[in-house]
Amino acid sequence: MRFDVVTLFPELFTPFQTVGITRRAFEAGQMDVHCTNPRDFAPGNYRRVDDRPFGGGPGMVMMAPPLEAALTHIRTQRSDSAPVLLFSPIGQRLDHAMVQRWAASSGAILLCGRYEGIDQRFIDSHVDEQISIGDFVLSGGEIPAIALLDAIARLQPGVLSDADSHHLDSFNPALDGLLDCPHYTRPEQWNGVGVPDVLLSGHHVQIERWRRDQRLLITAEHRPDLLQAARQAGRLSAEDERVLARGR
Ligand code: SAH
Repeated sequence: MRFDVVTLFPELFTPFQTVGITRRAFEAGQMDVHCTNPRDFAPGNYRRVDDRPFGGGPGMVMMAPPLEAALTHIRTQRSDSAPVLLFSPIGQRLDHAMVQRWAASSGAILLCGRYEGIDQRFIDSHVDEQISIGDFVLSGGEIPAIALLDAIARLQPGVLSDADSHHLDSFNPALDGLLDCPHYTRPEQWNGVGVPDVLLSGHHVQIERWRRDQRLLITAEHRPDLLQAARQAGRLSAEDERVLARGR
């Protein structure tokens, strides 16, 4: 799986690939990440990549020619016809289903905007999909790209230390798309507060039922939309419904 990133700031991508559990995915080559800087393809001493917007107004716009040259360079290095994804506030909101789709792919070309964005003609000619990470504006597409790469990396086999532990994370279909349950660790008493008795009982069936109950109740409280989706997909048992009806 290979991801090419078109960015004016490739140095932002190095540190995140060298820390934490996801490092394994990058260092083992499970996920190959290559950065290409459009500035390297801009002509002249100043290697200019942006210019003022036609029609006036504040800010600068990324010019199409250096972006196209960067893309052509990437295409010569890849044998596939990987899709081009642009990070943009107008894109579809990134979610688990989207991350899963890209985690199962052979990769993509990720385009990070800067300034006011990118010349629309380049987007119309080359971009296949636009992705947003939320209804707020960042100063560049690098953080969204890193967010996507990180989320994909933790889904790779062998990256999380316990096999398949990502199946126990929030939003995962393996847990019917519910939110995660609360977690506790030592010390057993902290500031006069203990941990739920059942977690110390060693009774695995009861522990699993408690965790399921917590997931259901937390999802009902914080994300009723996710609970409704699970219900509509037929993922809630009669026991689940009893727990929800009883509440906390
Ligand atoms: N003028 C644009 C914002 C440009 S911000 C607007 O008002 O919509 C500069 C770059 O940051 C964008 O080109 C995009 O690549 C990235 N970006 C900013 N906010 C983002 C978000 N919520 N999701 C994904 N990318 C974002």
